[in-house]
Amino acid sequence: MAFIIDGKKISSDIREELKQRVRKEGIEACLAVIQVGDDPASSVYVRNKKKACADIGISSKTFELPVQTTQEELLALIGELNEDDNVHGILVQLPLPGHLNEKEIIFAISPEKDVDGFHPQSVGCLSIGEDGFVSCTPAGIIELLKRSDVEMDGKECVIVGRSNIVGKPMAMLMLRENATVTVCHSHTRNLREVCQRADILIAAIGKPKFFDDTYVREGSVVIDVGIHRSGDGKLCGDVDYDKVADKVSAITPVPGGVGPMTIAMLMNNCVQSAWKKGK
Ligand code: NDP
Repeated sequence: MAFIIDGKKISSDIREELKQRVRKEGIEACLAVIQVGDDPASSVYVRNKKKACADIGISSKTFELPVQTTQEELLALIGELNEDDNVHGILVQLPLPGHLNEKEIIFAISPEKDVDGFHPQSVGCLSIGEDGFVSCTPAGIIELLKRSDVEMDGKECVIVGRSNIVGKPMAMLMLRENATVTVCHSHTRNLREVCQRADILIAAIGKPKFFDDTYVREGSVVIDVGIHRSGDGKLCGDVDYDKVADKVSAITPVPGGVGPMTIAMLMNNCVQSAWKKGK
């Protein structure tokens, strides 16, 4: 049976470490969270982020804007928050309503406050190995692997999915860890064979239970990024956990694997932003 990589425990350790650091170093961090409209899933995410801030000792400002907010109004708010010295992180909860231009909004956030790591400057810094905010989910996966003593140096890492928020930054981070990286997507030929080469397989395609035991090599490590709610209300990932767990050496469960790490790394980025400002 595989070692279960416990994202819940690791994220709670990170949050506790941040809480201690904030207290010990007197870091006064503030995160601004903007939500447009009242999408129920987004409201849950925003609530969880506010709660995480409060637990750690980060203050948060929430802006709940009506669904008919215009691009100009949203850009004006971001402009104000960019200028506000008491705000260290700005997060716009995605997805935005269809009439808003998401890309223009993300690009308007100051790179110094881009705690989601989505701004092109942050992405560019990541690819050339300079300091900058890193997208929270891939950064969380690196922490999961490090804190579970999974060696990445020289290992074959196959990432399935090439999105801007997961697959691509994941590839950059794995390169930084000296892994040999292959990125797959919907045009990849012989996906199963490519996945079988992996020492570390990272599944991020958004298809419930897509990866069964025929995709994984005996003894490999499997990270499941996907989150899906099935008809009976249960959560599952992109990996068919029951079929894969007996074959691999370590695996992340869903829920309780990658999911909790995303908020922990967001909190880390906020604290880091405030610390840098106060240096
Ligand atoms: P996207 O839909 O943006 O990207 C999916 C990627 O998977 C694309 O690159 C696509 O290829 C590729 N893909 C889709 N189908 C296949 C296939 N059959 N074979 C090979 N590649 C395929 O998704 P995200 O990256 O945003 O998210 C992926 C999953 O991770 C989702 O389930 C999402 O809910 C979850 N997620 C979880 C987070 C967490 O905190 N745990 C955070 C973010 C996401 P192509 O580019 O060719 O279209």
